[in-house]
Amino acid sequence: MDQQGDSGSQQTEREVAVEPLDSDSDEDSSAASGESEMDFLRNLLSRTLGLGSEKPEKVLDELTLEGVAKFMLNEKCKNVVCMVGAGISTSAGIPDFRSPGSGLYSNLQKYNLPYPEAIFEISYFKQNPEPFFALAKALYPGKFKPTVCHYFLRLLKEKNMLLRCYTQNIDTLERVAGLTEEDLIEAHGTFFTSHCVSMFCKKEYTLSWMKEKIFSDLTPKCEKCNSLVKPDIVFFGESLPSRFFSAVKSDFPKVDLLIIMGTSLQVQPFASLVSKVPTDTPRLLINKEKTGEGESFLGMLGFGGGMDFDSDKAYRDVAWLGNCDDGCVALADLLGWKKELEELVQREHMIIDAKCEAEAQEAGAGTLAVEKGGSSTGNPAAEAKQPTKEAGSPMKAKPEQTQDNTTPTDAESGLKKED
Ligand SMILES: [Zn+2]
Repeated sequence: MDQQGDSGSQQTEREVAVEPLDSDSDEDSSAASGESEMDFLRNLLSRTLGLGSEKPEKVLDELTLEGVAKFMLNEKCKNVVCMVGAGISTSAGIPDFRSPGSGLYSNLQKYNLPYPEAIFEISYFKQNPEPFFALAKALYPGKFKPTVCHYFLRLLKEKNMLLRCYTQNIDTLERVAGLTEEDLIEAHGTFFTSHCVSMFCKKEYTLSWMKEKIFSDLTPKCEKCNSLVKPDIVFFGESLPSRFFSAVKSDFPKVDLLIIMGTSLQVQPFASLVSKVPTDTPRLLINKEKTGEGESFLGMLGFGGGMDFDSDKAYRDVAWLGNCDDGCVALADLLGWKKELEELVQREHMIIDAKCEAEAQEAGAGTLAVEKGGSSTGNPAAEAKQPTKEAGSPMKAKPEQTQDNTTPTDAESGLKKED
């Protein structure tokens, strides 16, 4: 699963001590031993008093997007880790339920919840699953159509630069865009699969199975044991997937460049990851506003915890402010990848649109009854089933049967169409 820390990776592990992979416990207990406490104090003193003078190397020529692009084209930049959040999916029409403007929490009154957050709490869900599934139906995306930013991640993978993408999103769009399970750490779980909650059964169900239950207003029950079936998203009160913790340990010491996109870095432990890269690793933030600055105590003491874009001591952090799609296009342009990115987005969006239309036609031919749910009754679940295979072979899904009809949805991509 995770990359092993073999001798080959030694050269890239700079400054940061690598913790053994076998301590796979959820909580980080390494600070417990007296020895590491001594190391900690020694480091603290040497940094704050200017002893030892281990000044981190300045890797970027300039703290700008241009500086980052120049570094990425350098052969030293091999392992890029991306950390992404809700901001990369908003242009795909997926609401960010944490942002105050989305109005989600204020719309929850009808469910008679003891308090709004209860809808995402595991203990409440197990007793009262109905409100969660009603909300899932209301918020179910009409289409699973990844954004330009998602395809930029795919391009990083194709260029052999993507070590891993850590996502807070549960919308499966990284998978639809062509990242594999191996490329991804879905820190807050995913809607892609579901499981029976009975610890003796744990039968797995697909997204299309779950979608059918959600849209027929049935509380999903296991076909084998009749227990509740829950999407594999992490509820409040559940621990993060253990793979998250093991991957952080093996990936972060090797990171040459960290790219953070569309997240306000406010949810732990995800937010703390920015401090886990080596001290000379550049960190690029593409987001609507600056975030992650000077929050951590260790960061203030010079341990590189918080982001530092603007101070006199800033040496590695770059903020590009704006929406994630624009930021990715700007970076792709500087890298000489812009045309490739645009063609990738255009090709993949055409395939998705053609599938959605074909499925809508199929559904329409069968019965008109499904129209009740409006456009959201297209069958995106089916296309999400095997995103990589299908997406990787555009020939398979040529939209021939729709060519006589209009295909206005292509215009949605906002990118030029050539052949
Ligand atoms: Zn079961």
